[in-house]
Amino acid sequence: MIENLFDPVTKLKGVGTKTAEALASLSIYSIYDLLFYFPYRYDDLEMIPLDQLEDGQKVLLKGIVATEPFLSRFGYKKSRLSFKLRIDHDIIMVNFFNQPWLKNQLEIGKELAVYGKYSLLKQSLSAFKIVASRQDSDLSPVYPVNRHIKQKKLIDLIKLALNELPDVEDIIPQSIRSKYKLLSDQELVKWMHQPASPKAAKFAKRSAMFREFFLFQVQLAQLSMNPASKKAPAKKYSSSELDNLAKTLPFELSPDQKKVINEILSDMGQAKQMRRLLQGDVGSGKTVVAEFAIYAAITAGYQAALMVPTEILANQHFNKIANTLAQFGVRVALLTSSTKTMEKREIYRELTDGTLNVVIGTHALIQANVSFKKLGLVIIDEQHRFGVNQRQKLIAKGDNPDVLAMTATPIPRTLALTAYGEMDVSEIRHLPAGRKPIVSKWVTTSHLDEVLAKMKEQLAAGFQIYVVTPLIEESENIDLKNAKELSQKLANYFKDEQVVLLHGQMAGDEKDDIMTSFAAGQIQILVATSVIEVGVDVPNANMMVIFDADRFGLSQLHQLRGRIGRGQTESYCYFVADPKTEIGKKRMQIISTTSNGFKLSEEDLKLRGQGDLFGKAQSGLPEFRQGDLVNDYNAMVVAQELARAIIKKDPNLNQNPALKAVIAYNKKIKEID
Ligand code: ADP
Ligand code: MG
Repeated sequence: MIENLFDPVTKLKGVGTKTAEALASLSIYSIYDLLFYFPYRYDDLEMIPLDQLEDGQKVLLKGIVATEPFLSRFGYKKSRLSFKLRIDHDIIMVNFFNQPWLKNQLEIGKELAVYGKYSLLKQSLSAFKIVASRQDSDLSPVYPVNRHIKQKKLIDLIKLALNELPDVEDIIPQSIRSKYKLLSDQELVKWMHQPASPKAAKFAKRSAMFREFFLFQVQLAQLSMNPASKKAPAKKYSSSELDNLAKTLPFELSPDQKKVINEILSDMGQAKQMRRLLQGDVGSGKTVVAEFAIYAAITAGYQAALMVPTEILANQHFNKIANTLAQFGVRVALLTSSTKTMEKREIYRELTDGTLNVVIGTHALIQANVSFKKLGLVIIDEQHRFGVNQRQKLIAKGDNPDVLAMTATPIPRTLALTAYGEMDVSEIRHLPAGRKPIVSKWVTTSHLDEVLAKMKEQLAAGFQIYVVTPLIEESENIDLKNAKELSQKLANYFKDEQVVLLHGQMAGDEKDDIMTSFAAGQIQILVATSVIEVGVDVPNANMMVIFDADRFGLSQLHQLRGRIGRGQTESYCYFVADPKTEIGKKRMQIISTTSNGFKLSEEDLKLRGQGDLFGKAQSGLPEFRQGDLVNDYNAMVVAQELARAIIKKDPNLNQNPALKAVIAYNKKIKEID
């Protein structure tokens, strides 16, 4: 019997360190994590007669294996297992791809239920799985898994945990649950994993979503309502030094930049903690604003930290900022997971003793080893890429340091308040003067010639090109193969040019080497999965081609496009896509005719109301597993009110130990992840 919900998974019968490691790859460490690891969909295993099936429908078919299963292998790791299945008087072909081990489970005459996608034309089933004959319900849960752990194994483990389920205490008060018709946690886990009907699944999902929002808002409320967190000494920065900084810039600050710098300086000069969100379109020049804030903190005798989501970006910011500030004797360090151990130790030491003024880095900044002598300013770039806890961990390294969060995917103010708590909002609404607009165009794959011709022309003129192809998690390997093929094809076509592939599975220093060569002009065509998405700045790259553009969200496309248009010349962005839906077409039209990020984000939100599958994850809003901020906005507002009321009465949650325990546990887990 499980005693404590937060016990490690190894407390479960038959779970050893190996399984525990596999589970850890999904961020499942405890029984609690396992129980609250919910399916992302359910396969409906209701039987449908063959003659009622539509082409492409996913379905469960039951029949008898009629021919000897035949296994063919292609290359490394790829295989097809095929056999005929007799269903009453019909025969269909069943193909299993890349599951060679299933051969042992099959023989002529065996009765079998298989789930897969039906092809009307070929009279065949592209099968995903064999379904055990005795199912508790027609709904079979499907979980997000990876190569370390199989669907079936996870289902078994969850079953095991459910069977030994201890009392799960509720974190949402009873009165609220009855008011909003929410399931208790005990019911919730049962219903999510083993729903009795599609309706029950839907109902459970609603509770799961609210629970997730509620937990998020309780943490926000704890952060933003704690009065102690608001006091901080006024920073006596040197205005004349900041004027000197302005003089070293190769350009004049834009009016919007001046305005937001003043807003920031005014916050810093007051005896309370700054909490400011800076929204500004891609390329609007947020980095230089950050530079001013940093230098202000330094002249006031404090240290500053700048955290960014990717290594590439950390490098780029470091190169820029360290250079500019070096002229003023400011010492800046770069800290990422690729920093060598010796160097790391040196940085830790010098941050602690105050020799270093500024540190720029990735998640490496929130490691326990990092401590500061006098951290007065925390800047978080592309802040939506970080969770509440991650941001908070960096902030907690100072004594109520000023906080500046920056984002290039602007969201409406009300949404910002709900998503980020009580922050002041600054906006850079206009790009610096003199920018040539980017010529954007949507083309279908049948018009690729036009794109290739343009590429040729731009290469001949000495410019560089980004080629982007999507990488969607569910089928990472396939996508990566596509990216490799694409890069090979381009290399064959543009024989005289350096064509290089950059993707997310590469080691950090390998990526950096490639980016550095690209920035230095040694690579002409950079084929990339979306790793170049944020922040990268190479002015000589004036063209971008985005393949399968309809698989990206609008905001992300805009982010990507923002990599070009940074030089003095005309630049070109081609969106290559053959969208099949009306919304898909609409999105391609919008992105190719709208260049204003604020406007796009509004359009994106409107469209997303109609269910834009891939846009969700990339909208620039905090991500949730069970719901999303836009479609479920009302639930989020309720969760926020509720959380605030609770924290106001009981800031340390002493009257709700179950909730307190879950929050404490979540915090601990985020540290491991
Ligand atoms: P983002 O807001 O996307 O982070 P960056 O800070 O990377 O944008 O700035 C984009 C480019 O614009 C950089 O090359 C930067 O040097 C340049 N830039 C920033 N401010 C100005 C300005 N006022 N005038 C001209 N160029 C500017
Ligand atoms: Mg930036």
